[in-house]
Amino acid sequence: MIDKEILRRNLDKVIWSIEEARLRVSEHHIVKLVTVGKYTDIENIETLYSLGQRAFGENQVQQLESRVGELEALPLEWHFIGTLQKNKINKLIDIKPSLMQSIDSLELAIALDKKLSAKDSTMNCLLQLNSAGEESKSGVEPQKAIDIYQEIAERCPRIHLKGLMSIGAHTDDQSVVKDSFETTHKIYESLQKDGASICSMGMSSDFELAIACGSNLVRVGSALFRESD
Ligand SMILES: *Cc1c(COP(=O)(O)O)cnc(C)c1O
Repeated sequence: MIDKEILRRNLDKVIWSIEEARLRVSEHHIVKLVTVGKYTDIENIETLYSLGQRAFGENQVQQLESRVGELEALPLEWHFIGTLQKNKINKLIDIKPSLMQSIDSLELAIALDKKLSAKDSTMNCLLQLNSAGEESKSGVEPQKAIDIYQEIAERCPRIHLKGLMSIGAHTDDQSVVKDSFETTHKIYESLQKDGASICSMGMSSDFELAIACGSNLVRVGSALFRESD
């Protein structure tokens, strides 16, 4: 467990950095912070809640399930941000996350839609884009993203698509990271006519750059849980 004052300082720092980055874009550009708890224990999530944070992300269904259960008494908003295995779909549906950010193929969307239908349920989702074309990452290719997005919207009525999620290129070269964010944002803009309103990009190392490129939802984990600067 991290000292509460350190957690407060880290959270304040992240919030101020987001604030400055969004104001550089526009006063009207609102950015949501989803704190990612996968590296930390449940006490720190409760502390973040006591500091005012409400939206939390997890990348494993198992961990999401146990945390949602343990923190049931708190009015938290849960996001699923990891790779969803087919055998965990029903479990995720029962958890009723506020937003499932990681639909990474048409095939997964169809399987999820089918199970949502069987449970007479719906889910808010984002399509995950592999904007840097990295082998190690999940997500659809940028060239196919618009077609797949529209196909999911047509064929999967139980899935309510709200936009895109992407992880920035994994490199220290800022221009390459920027390219990957711009690729995602361009596709997001062309999907606004199809109802896309969320452009989820930016993590601890690159959220300011992501906001400069138009992100309106950042997912921040490790920057919050550092014990020192
Ligand atoms: C872990 C994770 C994050 C947070 O990463 P940090 O670099 O620790 O901020 C954001 N998005 C996804 C999809 C993740 O898996």
